[in-house]
Amino acid sequence: MQAAVYEALGQTADVDLLFHATVTALDLPAPTAAHALGPAHATITTTSASTSAAGAGSPGEPKTVRARLVVGADGGASAVRRLAGLGTWGWGYGQDAVVCTVRLADDSNNGPATAWQRYLTHPAGPVALLPLWGGYASVVWSCPTPDAQV
Ligand SMILES: Cc1cc2nc3c(=O)[nH]c(=O)nc-3n(C[C@H](O)[C@H](O)[C@H](O)COP(=O)(O)OP(=O)(O)OC[C@H]3O[C@@H](n4cnc5c(N)ncnc54)[C@H](O)[C@@H]3O)c2cc1C
Repeated sequence: MQAAVYEALGQTADVDLLFHATVTALDLPAPTAAHALGPAHATITTTSASTSAAGAGSPGEPKTVRARLVVGADGGASAVRRLAGLGTWGWGYGQDAVVCTVRLADDSNNGPATAWQRYLTHPAGPVALLPLWGGYASVVWSCPTPDAQV
């Protein structure tokens, strides 16, 4: 999916791509009326040599981007969410995941072609074997917290 998105964006002249960069500051306009917000200013700091149609920044060099829409798609510990001051709520399920990477005995060296997942009888499971590359796979076993700590 990532490769397809990059390819599509690469064919669009007015999109600048900035890699190896992280959002370090976000200046949002005061919310007077939701439909009348001005542009946000995001400060993005490069973490290594980056590529952009607008010119690459040096490592560690901050770059300010102005945008009318900022999408925070940066995961569970979203910096965009934190910098925007957005709160979250959640609850525990009494489970943790035991995660590790294993090398498969299969000497084809290609790893499993598809993911394998088994739903065990409550409260255990599910346990999954997810293909990586080069004969490696990721094990993810969701189990009751006390079992995960053993
Ligand atoms: C061990 C484990 C097992 C899981 N198993 C399943 C499952 O079986 N089925 C299922 O549906 N879901 C599963 N999930 C949940 C699933 O992985 C997440 O819900 C999903 O990946 C969230 O997608 P996302 O795009 O919101 O965030 P992510 O996939 O976390 O992507 C966020 C991206 O933002 C980047 N980023 C973070 N901070 C910054 C920053 N400051 N600046 C720039 N970039 C940044 C990160 O590098 C990352 O590339 C599992 C999660 C874990 C941890």
